[in-house]
Amino acid sequence: MTDAYDVVVIGGGVMGCATLHYLAKMGVTNTLLLERDTLASGSTGRSMTILRMHYSNAITTHMAKESRDVIADFEAETGHPSGFVNTGYLFLVESGQEEALRTNVALQRSHGVDSQPFTPQQAASNWPEIDFDGVAAVAYEPDSGYADSSAVTNGFALSAREHGAEVRLGTTVTGIAIERGRAVGVETTEGRIDAGAVVLTAGPWIPEFLHSVGAPLPLSWVRHQVIKLHRPLDKIPSHMIIADTSNGISFRPDAGDLTLIGIREDPTDRDTYNQSVDPSCAAESLEYLAKRYPAFDDAGWDGGWSGLFTVTPDHHPVIDRVPGVDNLVVGAGFSGHGFKLSPTIGRALAELAVHGRSTSIDMSPLRFTRFAEDDLLQSAYGECVFA
Ligand SMILES: Cc1cc2nc3c(=O)[nH]c(=O)nc-3n(C[C@H](O)[C@H](O)[C@H](O)COP(=O)(O)OP(=O)(O)OC[C@H]3O[C@@H](n4cnc5c(N)ncnc54)[C@H](O)[C@@H]3O)c2cc1C
Repeated sequence: MTDAYDVVVIGGGVMGCATLHYLAKMGVTNTLLLERDTLASGSTGRSMTILRMHYSNAITTHMAKESRDVIADFEAETGHPSGFVNTGYLFLVESGQEEALRTNVALQRSHGVDSQPFTPQQAASNWPEIDFDGVAAVAYEPDSGYADSSAVTNGFALSAREHGAEVRLGTTVTGIAIERGRAVGVETTEGRIDAGAVVLTAGPWIPEFLHSVGAPLPLSWVRHQVIKLHRPLDKIPSHMIIADTSNGISFRPDAGDLTLIGIREDPTDRDTYNQSVDPSCAAESLEYLAKRYPAFDDAGWDGGWSGLFTVTPDHHPVIDRVPGVDNLVVGAGFSGHGFKLSPTIGRALAELAVHGRSTSIDMSPLRFTRFAEDDLLQSAYGECVFA
């Protein structure tokens, strides 16, 4: 085992593992991923894993479409399954957001996404099982769905390992070694490891690393709850993924009779947040579903979990080299919607580490300095995960 690598990746969530895979695909296999716990033990393992493509700007739309196609045909990319389930996706907006929805549907279509706008009346005639009361406009994406976070993360890692990359679990990175303004390795609980380049994909734990190299980002954390329900299979064998801007709720089917509901974005403390769900949120979810989808009236609550979104001021990530430190690349602040973008982002991080720039996609809208420059990305639906 060598302790000098061309690239060291910090963190084994979906982003770190995707980066390792794309490095291998580029022929860079003298690589090491360091994970302090197990793969997908951070935000990735708590994800709702929804893959939808409705976004307010070109770069995210492009990444969502391209990444959805990779995850839907994951065996072709990695040789491993992703657990992709094609459910279709309905996006519901409230009064005042109709024009934004129509503009975004046109944007999606210009990127090759099959996205169709409906009035609430048209939607009610297509999907009579859903109550569109209070909805002003609807976008339908037949190709959207969800995948398995563990399968995708492990699939990327396995593919990279099959090409020679190394993954070490249970090793904590304690610092980034800098010499003359360049990242030259990492300090770990097992000692120093040299690296030609370092990729920082430590999810919610990135801020300490950036502070230590004198390049902070405005990152904060919110707690998102995932409520687990058993639905009456005789009435609802399966259903589409539905997201609603009026209350920030999304819900999707899971294995068997399970339905998962994502609810709330509450500012929280990263290290002490409540990882369970609030009974009041479960009650709110049941009440909402019984109204929006009356056959859920008989559904029963069965616990759930909470996880962290690491959020930037414009709810879009930073994918860039760290200013002032050569050979240090960061993928941070996925703001609750990173899973669906992970293939394109992993490829861009790999390119940044090897070439110093992203060659397959212009990542400048997601540059590190945009907050200091006051040049934030705009979202049609306010400051939330629906960016
Ligand atoms: C409840 C919830 C629901 C979500 N739903 C969706 C959704 O429906 N669709 C979607 O696209 N996205 C969703 N997301 C967002 C998505 O899951 C994240 O954006 C994505 O998983 C982030 O991946 P990551 O690899 O950057 O971070 P993480 O998964 O957090 O990985 C970081 C890894 O770094 C490791 N690490 C940290 N510090 C160190 C260290 N010092 N040394 C070594 N290792 C370290 C951690 O252990 C962790 O494994 C959701 C997130 C949550 C929490």
